[in-house]
Amino acid sequence: MITVKFGRTSRQFEVVKSPIPHILVDSNKELHGWWNGIEPDGNRECTAEKLLINPYNGCSHNCLFCYSHALAGYFRLFREKGVVAVFKDFDKKVAKQLEGLRVASCGYLSPVTDPFQPINERYELSEKIIKEFVDRNIPVQFTTKGRISDTTLKLIKKQEHSFGEVSILTLDEDKRKKLMAGGASTDELARNIERLANEAKFAVCRIDPIIPYVTDGEEELEELVRRVVDAGAKHIITSCMDIPRVLKNELYEELEKRFRIPKREFERLYTEVISGRFHANIEYRRKLFGLMREICDRNKVKMSICMEFESLDGKRVRGLNKEFMSSNNCEGVNVPIYVRKGDGKRFEPVQRCDGNCLKCHFSDKEPVCGISDLRKAGAWKLRDYRRWSKGIKPSKTNLF
Ligand code: SF4
Ligand code: SF4
Repeated sequence: MITVKFGRTSRQFEVVKSPIPHILVDSNKELHGWWNGIEPDGNRECTAEKLLINPYNGCSHNCLFCYSHALAGYFRLFREKGVVAVFKDFDKKVAKQLEGLRVASCGYLSPVTDPFQPINERYELSEKIIKEFVDRNIPVQFTTKGRISDTTLKLIKKQEHSFGEVSILTLDEDKRKKLMAGGASTDELARNIERLANEAKFAVCRIDPIIPYVTDGEEELEELVRRVVDAGAKHIITSCMDIPRVLKNELYEELEKRFRIPKREFERLYTEVISGRFHANIEYRRKLFGLMREICDRNKVKMSICMEFESLDGKRVRGLNKEFMSSNNCEGVNVPIYVRKGDGKRFEPVQRCDGNCLKCHFSDKEPVCGISDLRKAGAWKLRDYRRWSKGIKPSKTNLF
């Protein structure tokens, strides 16, 4: 048995040893949108709405820099004991939640854990959840540093706007192994992109994060972009490693040990604190993103940056995407919001919506979706989707 603490309360679980130590958790957690809205502090860069889904907490790919190591609850359980939390039957809960909606955005597996980490081979929650979206004709996307399952490819092929993101840190396999305990090999990751492209699905490569002094060399980045574009990637998303305050010293020490980069180099570079996380100084980041834009332009692939901000006064921030992105949406693909007007299960895309709610926020025009909240580019919960759903009358809308 193992005890997991949540603030002042705690729960006990039996640890299942195989295939890796994990616990089975009954939970009623809900689908939700981004954690921050654009108002009041400018703290949102994500252009499109998403329904975020984490069927697992803790990720045995165990990247050295993973920000989920700083999170509490089940994430701490993984960090301290190497035990992954599996949200039992989460696909059924997701199905029930989708059942109650008439408005849905693209599902996203997973913002804080890898959907194709090894434990998924046993429970296949990622595939089951993807199926719930695809069966309703709601788009779904995933990001992985593991191997995309064949079932997943077959499923997303059936849904027009569904797509995949493959995260590759470096082409240097030795470096990759020093940066993460698990995950697919560099060759397997490039194969993921080919397999998506072969199925005519939009393939994004995340070079995310770039690690200063470790993976930030121009030649190395150019070679990586060239390789993934050859494999079929249509878009690049990038960022610079940031560091939660509580992980800072440990991370510097590990980077020094594994890559022989003196800790003081990181201390000199990581001088900016935004929302409790240390960031490389803005001059370094601007130079890095400018370089990535040049490389992507040379290789004729669109790019954007993920969650990169410049600190203004105090709490307020300004997103850097406007300066560097060459695409309309962060993911390089326009995924409209979907609505369900019939009595059946099937959702349909809203015509003329390009899925960029952040752009609608800064526009004077009424959004074509007719849901004025969405142009607020807020931090939405399931209850907001339920509220909007009440405004979509069966068969009476001209949204599509
Ligand atoms: S694959 Fe993603 S979620 Fe998993 S440890 Fe690495 S950064 Fe974290
Ligand atoms: S019309 Fe604009 S605000 Fe409405 S869903 Fe589409 S992008 Fe978002």
